[in-house]
Amino acid sequence: MPSGKTHEIINITVLMVILAGLYYFSTWQKNEIVTKYLDIYTILAFSASYIFATFFLSPDLDTKSRPYKRWKILKILWWPYRIMFKHRGYSHNIVLGPLSIILNLVLIAVVIILITGVEVKDIPLKLAFAIIVGIVLPIDVHIISDSLVSKTKHVFK
Ligand SMILES: [Zn+2]
Repeated sequence: MPSGKTHEIINITVLMVILAGLYYFSTWQKNEIVTKYLDIYTILAFSASYIFATFFLSPDLDTKSRPYKRWKILKILWWPYRIMFKHRGYSHNIVLGPLSIILNLVLIAVVIILITGVEVKDIPLKLAFAIIVGIVLPIDVHIISDSLVSKTKHVFK
C-alpha cells in the first residue's frame, strides 16, 4: 500500500506525463481533437483541479490521512464520508470512489453557490468538464496504484 506521500508523487508524475502528452499532440503532432478542444484555460482548469484533488480529495479521506488533515477545521465536511465508508471499502472502488467524493463535493458546492449566489449556467461546459476529469483522474490513479501495490481485489469489489 503506497503511503500518502507516495500517492502524491505518483499522481503528480502522471499529471506531468499527461501534460507532456498534450503538449506533444498539440504542438508537434498538431492532433485535430487536441487542438480543437483544448485551450490554455481548459488545461489550466484541468491541472488545477487535478492538483487540488491530489492533495485534498483522496479516497483516503475515509481515514485520518494527510488529505483529511489538510482540510483543517473544514474536515468536518468529510466526516459523513469517513463514517459511511470503512477504510478501503467502496471509497476504493474505481467507479464508486470518485463518485462518492464528487457527490460530497457537490453538496459542499451547493452550499457555497447558495451563499455566494454564483449562477451555475455561467460556468462554461468545457471548463466544468475539464474540472470533473481533473478530479476523477487523480482519484482513480490513487485507487489503481493502491491495487497494484497491495494486489488486493478491492478495486473491483
Ligand atoms: Zn488509498
